[in-house]
Amino acid sequence: MARKIGSRYTANQILGRGSAGTVWLGEGPEGPVAIKLLREDLASDQELVGRFVQERTALLGLDHPNVVSVRDLVVDGNDLALVMDLVRGTDLRTRLDRERRLAPEAAVAIVADVADGLAAAHAAGVVHRDVKPENVLLDMQGPLGPGGSHPALLTDFGVAKLIDSPRRTRATKIIGTPDYLAPEIIEGLPPRASVDIYALATVLYELLAGFTPFGGGHPGAVLRRHVTETVVPLPGIPEELWQLLVQCLAKAPASRLRASELGARLREQLPLLAGMPPLDVDEPDTEPEEESPEAEDPPGETVTGARVRRGSVPLVPGAKPDSNRDTHTSMRVPGPDELAGGARGTARAPRTPGAPRPGSARHRATARRRRITLGVAAVVLVVAAAVGTWAATSGDDAGATPSDTRNSAPESP
Ligand code: ADP
Repeated sequence: MARKIGSRYTANQILGRGSAGTVWLGEGPEGPVAIKLLREDLASDQELVGRFVQERTALLGLDHPNVVSVRDLVVDGNDLALVMDLVRGTDLRTRLDRERRLAPEAAVAIVADVADGLAAAHAAGVVHRDVKPENVLLDMQGPLGPGGSHPALLTDFGVAKLIDSPRRTRATKIIGTPDYLAPEIIEGLPPRASVDIYALATVLYELLAGFTPFGGGHPGAVLRRHVTETVVPLPGIPEELWQLLVQCLAKAPASRLRASELGARLREQLPLLAGMPPLDVDEPDTEPEEESPEAEDPPGETVTGARVRRGSVPLVPGAKPDSNRDTHTSMRVPGPDELAGGARGTARAPRTPGAPRPGSARHRATARRRRITLGVAAVVLVVAAAVGTWAATSGDDAGATPSDTRNSAPESP
């Protein structure tokens, strides 16, 4: 069902749906294009339309091989559309969902491309504000680069800023997923270029690990982790790459690298990473809570835009589940090793193959079962002792059967 967009474009077929609208494969005077038609509620917001027109120059001015160029902005009746270069390929989220983790060389090559695109945008005074795998497109028609990865292009420039008006932000609080949000945004500071670096480092961590450093569960818990938690080391990651990640995930924006530096430093590492397999990282817990099987989410289900991690525990009754992380929401008694001074990272250290991870749903369920068994055993012993004493002191009446004893035992806790 073709549809006219302004006087120059036709939208022919839906390519994908995103948080801000629907992306169509379209046709313009110069050939095929991608047309992002903003959601109706956004398109009917007069303030947003005004900003859309204001931003026109900045958005149209970005021209870089790692940026999806915006060619035109159309305001036509109820339609508000961005006309973009068409990228024939897939987005990085789709690839990550398929492969779970990328080999370090491919991950670093992709992120270096995005860093180069960001460097061009930052030099032009544009902050992206919504860097995440969904906004990285892989151009399958482009040449294969290091690690067999296709060129990566960053898309959706300026969209976060357009949508994030003070009025709208009050209503929705924070737009998008919280997994990639820099701590200073959470603390209310204006977003500068360094928020994109933090988000991109989060993407790199996710490509290597298969999960984001602070994500999972209730958005409030995610936000708190961004502000207060340090990033957990990835086993087997080359030291220099880890140092880059740590620097770009620094809580202090000024400590992070600039995009151009990040791109260059990542490219320097590529030869060292050639042929390295994906990291062997402990998966986040995927088992359901025994007591509340209904707490399991279908993969990819969202809570105010956040992807929910599987096998997690609820933050508050009735809320979507939290991850298996040891936060204040899933407190546990520390083990002897930890009390002896083990850091959070080392608390994960050796465990018997197949044994549940400390703090995981299965671990808690096993511990609970053990407590119940001990409780029942104690009750049986006490009752048996009482019956023995009673039998010894009551002569002919000492005929209580085991079933009597069992019936007299109180309910286990
Ligand atoms: P989100 O709002 O989640 O960031 P988008 O609305 O930008 O997502 O895009 C939705 C989907 O449309 C993408 O996942 C991608 O598959 C497709 N898409 C977006 N932009 C383009 C483009 N320029 N060329 C080809 N496909 C695109």
